[in-house]
Order: sequence, then structure tokens, then C-alpha cells
Amino acid sequence: MENPTNTLQRELQDLKAQINTLEKGLEHKPDYGLGTGAAAVTNWELDLAMVKRLRERVSLIEQTLSQTDQNAYGICKQCGEPIHPDRLAVLPDTRLCIQCARNEQDSK
Ligand SMILES: [Zn+2]
Repeated sequence: MENPTNTLQRELQDLKAQINTLEKGLEHKPDYGLGTGAAAVTNWELDLAMVKRLRERVSLIEQTLSQTDQNAYGICKQCGEPIHPDRLAVLPDTRLCIQCARNEQDSK
């Protein structure tokens, strides 16, 4: 059974690598006009939007990992019971055990 924190660390590294790659492509904004220019600009803008989304994900994971450092990782914030490892494997950044997650859904 792998520690879910490792999964998040790895995802974080992947995301940062993707951001790096995308940012290299973003350094030179293509010119409009000249045949295929318009399509290139559209891709550039898509990449820019992608970087923004990836950055948001990175900050979410970093937040989760810093909470992990405060040793509450894998503990339900609602009832204080340990969250089942199977659940953490599927939802590494969940803060609720299955029971509390169900209760929360029922109350909506
Ligand atoms: Zn709970």
C-alpha cells in the first residue's frame, strides 16, 4: 500500500514539469497575420489557460501537503477517525472519511 502523500508529491512534480514545458513555449508569443499565425496564437492562448489551471492545481496540492505536515493527513477533519486507505488512494486530497462525506451529502 503506497502512501498517498507520495502520489501527491509525484503529481506535483509532473505538474511543475508540464508548467515548465508550457512556459518555454509561451516565451515567444506568435505574431498575428502571416498565414498560420492566427492558429498559432490560438494555441498560445490555450497553453496560457492551461498553465493557469495547472498552477491552481499545484497550489491546491501544496496546500494539502502542508496540512499533511501538520500530521493530520488521513484523519477525518469532521470526526477525527482515520480515513480508510482505499478512499485515500482514490481521493488523495480528501479531508473527510466515507461516513462523514455521506452525512454531508445527505444533509444537502
Ligand atoms: Zn469522519
